[in-house]
Amino acid sequence: MNAVVPTVLCLSGHDPAGGAGVHADIEAIAAQGAHALTVITALTVQDSRNVARVQAVDATLFAEQIERLLADSDIRAIKLGLLGDIAQIAVIAATIRRLRVPVVCDPVLRAGGGSDLAATATIAALREQLFPLVDLLTPNAAEARRLAPDAADPAAAAATLWAAGCRQVLVTGGDEPGDEVCNLWRRDDGSLREFRWPRLAAAFHGAGCTLASAIAGRLAVGDDWPQAIEQAQRYTHTALARAYRSGRGRLIPGRRA
Ligand code: PLP
Repeated sequence: MNAVVPTVLCLSGHDPAGGAGVHADIEAIAAQGAHALTVITALTVQDSRNVARVQAVDATLFAEQIERLLADSDIRAIKLGLLGDIAQIAVIAATIRRLRVPVVCDPVLRAGGGSDLAATATIAALREQLFPLVDLLTPNAAEARRLAPDAADPAAAAATLWAAGCRQVLVTGGDEPGDEVCNLWRRDDGSLREFRWPRLAAAFHGAGCTLASAIAGRLAVGDDWPQAIEQAQRYTHTALARAYRSGRGRLIPGRRA
């Protein structure tokens, strides 16, 4: 008998530099003992420094790929990353409603190198159509500020994003200053839990994607939310400690054991 490996449906962008997007999904999910099914939302022109262009994949082709996988695999979790356009968001919402499995959404709005990655209309559709279907949103501090501009701090941003429909929120602090990285988890009952990690003295490309994918992978292999969120942070911290250089810009997380 061959082993059955639980699968995660990843709807993310392609990063030719291999740091973020589907590369991160495949490696981080495999490292948790799950298998990534990857339907690409957008092709990008980028390197380890920054993103120059994002080109959405045709929504009909995107929907056809998802349909094929749904008929073939028993999907245990969904991971959303960079979103291509509004037409894809309607397809994603319909897919989530059909599958009824945990959804981890990394709201990819801006590259570490500074480029905007999502159009204003796409962000509005994310908020209106997907937030009410998301079980865990994982913005970094800058993304949380953009999504909740009136919030004074990460706890207030998490509360705003919960009020907008996201069941749980993990605001990560890797992009903030300080000796420690502080990640704040707001659970569905409104309680908060803080995680602190020693800050590693380097800039990384694909850290957020790695964490969100690892959480989805851990859920797929049977972890509950507290285990998945804790173990995925541990895994990501180790991957960042093992990061390597493949280009002239930021470091790529060492995601494989
Ligand atoms: N490209 C893709 C396809 C992504 O999904 C992301 C982030 O999630 C990025 C680029 C930006 O990654 P970073 O900010 O780590 O450079």
